[in-house]
Amino acid sequence: MGENHRIHLCLAKMSDTGAEQRYIQEAFDTNWVAPLGPNVDAFEKELEHYLNELKVPELVEGPTIKTGALTSSTTFHVAALSSCTAALHLALLLLGVGRDDEVLCQSFSFCASSNPVTYCGAKPVFVDSEKDTWNMSPELLEVAIKDRIAKTGCKPKAIIAVDLYGMPAHWEAIEEIARRYGIPVIEDAANAMGSRYKGRLCGTFGDIATFSFNGNKMITTSGGGALICHDETAKRRSIFLATQARENALHYQHEVIGYNYRMSNISAGIGRGQMTVLEKHIAHHKHVHYLYKELLGDLVKDNPNSDYDSNFWLTTVTFGKDADMEALCKALNAAGIEARPLWKPMHMQPVYKDAPAYINGVSETLFKTGICLPSGPWVSDEDVKFIASKIKSHY
Ligand SMILES: *Cc1c(COP(=O)(O)O)cnc(C)c1O
Repeated sequence: MGENHRIHLCLAKMSDTGAEQRYIQEAFDTNWVAPLGPNVDAFEKELEHYLNELKVPELVEGPTIKTGALTSSTTFHVAALSSCTAALHLALLLLGVGRDDEVLCQSFSFCASSNPVTYCGAKPVFVDSEKDTWNMSPELLEVAIKDRIAKTGCKPKAIIAVDLYGMPAHWEAIEEIARRYGIPVIEDAANAMGSRYKGRLCGTFGDIATFSFNGNKMITTSGGGALICHDETAKRRSIFLATQARENALHYQHEVIGYNYRMSNISAGIGRGQMTVLEKHIAHHKHVHYLYKELLGDLVKDNPNSDYDSNFWLTTVTFGKDADMEALCKALNAAGIEARPLWKPMHMQPVYKDAPAYINGVSETLFKTGICLPSGPWVSDEDVKFIASKIKSHY
């Protein structure tokens, strides 16, 4: 182990059946090599079926299913886009976020959770995490809402909470506060495909949710994302904005600014193939997590209680206050193991040094004392044992 075998955090893995390539071949054969086409429509339908928990056995059996064979969904509607970052940007636009509005963002996350706020000319206001889930603290969220209203005379325009590392946020509390103050919520479920909170799938919380299909996520389209909303009108609006906001006219007519954010028919073909292995990938990430747990015990972050069912997209471990995460990551990387410190909170990033932030120390401590470990579909039991032994021998 070691030498030529680098163990990655989460590397894309295609199905064993070649489903992805069959869908792509179909796109070539029918000349749908374009940013729209049957794979895009079908991938959206498949995601809708998944989120609405309609079990359609054909979906896992191969590439012959036709779009028309699927009935249109009831509760959740999906637009396939070029990335989760694009989906978050469009979500903010759908909620009417504009210049100088404030948006409450989870500080402990990847920059893509909050950067789209800046794309809108709006201002992110960062909220720290709670200890249980490592996601947005409901308590601090309410403190922040009250304080922003007191300081600016305006209500924040939206809330973006994240299911970081696959762990669902404390949705019941966040949605209750948001409802009470009448502020719409966006769920950044980029990491959380297959996670559940109180039995409900992540990607179905808030007013709008987003998925990522980047190469390192639960499933991939080689780069892509989705916007999940509650009605067909919002879906159509997001697709309109994602295709340069062309009005219905023979000539090119534009009344608002649009974007080039649509998923391509080739990418969607990969996505359809990946839908056939989604459950397998989720089961694998969970298996890897419980093996780490067995070997490393309480160092491993687990579900806080039975309300939470994380997909454990990445298994994370935390150490005591005096631990040196940089030294540990360097040692692991030298042994061929990709390991990284936990996210550096956005309120500590130079680019956001002037943004207001409501802080309780949780995310700063996590950044100083934790790392994430290889957890993807290529990580074997032997890899996990090797990684656990390296961590133990470092201490
Ligand atoms: C990966 C990620 C994103 C961005 O996804 P892209 O599809 O790469 O744009 C957003 N939020 C979180 C939490 C992520 O991990």
